Amino acid sequence: MLKNTGAIMNLYDYNTINKILTSHGFTFSKALGQNFLVDPDVCPEMARQLAADSETGVIEIGPGIGVLTKELCKVAGKVVAIELDKRLFPVLRETLGEFDNLEIVEGDVLELDLSALIAEKFADKKSVKVCANLPYYITSPVIMKLLESRLPIDEIVVMVQKEAAERFCAEIGSRESGAVTVAVNYYAEAQMLFEVTKDCFYPSPKIDSAVMRLKLRDKPPVEVQDENRFFAVVKAAFAQRRKTALNSLSSALGLPKEKVLSALAAIGADERARAESFSIEELARLSEIL
Ligand code: SAM
Repeated sequence: MLKNTGAIMNLYDYNTINKILTSHGFTFSKALGQNFLVDPDVCPEMARQLAADSETGVIEIGPGIGVLTKELCKVAGKVVAIELDKRLFPVLRETLGEFDNLEIVEGDVLELDLSALIAEKFADKKSVKVCANLPYYITSPVIMKLLESRLPIDEIVVMVQKEAAERFCAEIGSRESGAVTVAVNYYAEAQMLFEVTKDCFYPSPKIDSAVMRLKLRDKPPVEVQDENRFFAVVKAAFAQRRKTALNSLSSALGLPKEKVLSALAAIGADERARAESFSIEELARLSEIL
């Protein structure tokens, strides 16, 4: 039996990981995005970037065997880690048994009522933050759920695929921007923090990753009358990236080209304009006119 003291149990060591996992009969699930961090510098740096203290409650999504959880428990007042894979519970009891400020919640982060969870678990905390090495198969839905639910959280520090991070953190109006860039920017200020190469994981995935910070805004950068319509127009404008905004909008929204053309003219754009060249204010105006 491995002793659960940080000094003896090195969770970044392949032999230790294999020993723990084998003793619990655990095998990695590709479908659940189980690539665990084995680089000793990444988790401490993520926890440092989160800047949590004893008055902070932290939600972690997908603790795995607990490498990031451990760093979060060292700095935050309380950590609630949401894990879908029940097989990891006995593993986590072994690896993180020393922390009394940790609670593991079983469930699918996409199904859980996070608002109720925050009210129940963090009533005595001054601020609530989210930190995770996200399972990549649900990156965008998780991020959009965290943003759209208007949870009382002030910051999210997460690792996602490098390409996704570049898209989330792109400048609106730049070639790299997309509908998701606008959506994220509406709710938060996005900042790329650092890259993490694929060899920092076990098993190693096919692509590199990056850690980004989303600082939630008190209010959106533009005022829109109807958010659903705004996001529908943004999605439609970027729906066919190789086409002009005129073609993309008219085909995705089923609108006559003349109507779209006159809306584009009203924001000072012509029939050659592409969605990625619009500012968030222009997209907001477009959605009001259309
Ligand atoms: N935090 C660990 C690390 O950095 O080594 C593990 C990260 S691993 C990329 C993703 C984790 O999310 C796994 O533990 C996986 O079982 C868990 N997971 C996958 N889908 C989930 C879901 N829908 N809800 C909650 N956890 C999930």
